[in-house]
Amino acid sequence: MRLFDLNGRVACITGGNGGIGLAMGRGMAEAGASVMVAGRNAEKNAAAVEALQALGAEADSVVVDVREPESCKAMIARTVERFGRLDILVNNAGTAVRKPPQDYTLEEWHLVLETNLTSAFVCSQAAYPEFKKVGGGKIINIGSMYSLFGAAVSSPYASSKGGLVQLTKSLASAWAKDNIQANAVLPGWIDTELTRRARADMPDMHERVLSRSPTGRWGEADDHCGIAVFLASAASDFVTGTAIPVDGGYSIYI
Ligand code: NDP
Repeated sequence: MRLFDLNGRVACITGGNGGIGLAMGRGMAEAGASVMVAGRNAEKNAAAVEALQALGAEADSVVVDVREPESCKAMIARTVERFGRLDILVNNAGTAVRKPPQDYTLEEWHLVLETNLTSAFVCSQAAYPEFKKVGGGKIINIGSMYSLFGAAVSSPYASSKGGLVQLTKSLASAWAKDNIQANAVLPGWIDTELTRRARADMPDMHERVLSRSPTGRWGEADDHCGIAVFLASAASDFVTGTAIPVDGGYSIYI
């Protein structure tokens, strides 16, 4: 269907080398996009590129540390150099440190805020002139259930993910006139490396998630392929500044 066609479009995905980021890359690649995988780990990057190319897509990778503004700018520049343009930016790289608020060091606070929130701002700023050159663009910020809820052992993570929603609305407001749509996706509990670590730390977490989820299952990374294509394509041209849960209903009742 042409509304969802991404042929000729170029996407750059931070943290695109695994989990939710790679699944979004797969969705967009299958819809025709060229994909730049951006992550710190060169080996994971290379494996992700191979997986995307196996789908018939054009794909390449760039090593980036999203905590470094110069590295973010170089990532956008490399994407345009490699594929000739930029249409879609997915701010997906993320990290978490779990402990009660009184135990965090300031370094840990900055680690989480810089990785999850400041990087999205910096990458979006770097992408803006490239979007202007091609007459528009799509920003997809990856929030969380912690964009909606607090948690006793996640104060920097929840602050960063709540902030991402407000950043999304602000970018959407400022850049609508440039035909740039910015939206957030709020994944529920998804089985990835990140949550495998969390489940190791919190043994009751698996059952807690299952018992609260109306759909009765954890999400898979591939549950994000569809929303990625929708928010990256012309199908969502009048959708901006919103935050869409992909959570199997986790957030719909108390
Ligand atoms: P993964 O651990 O698989 O992905 C995290 C990604 O972030 C990796 O690709 C990692 O790349 C990248 N990354 C982390 N720090 C940096 C950095 N400084 N610079 C560049 N890249 C970095 O977990 P998920 O797929 O689960 O997480 C993806 C996003 O989804 C995150 O923003 C997370 O907060 C969010 N999310 C996940 C949920 C879940 O249940 N899994 C729920 C809600 C939100 P590398 O390995 O190369 O460092």
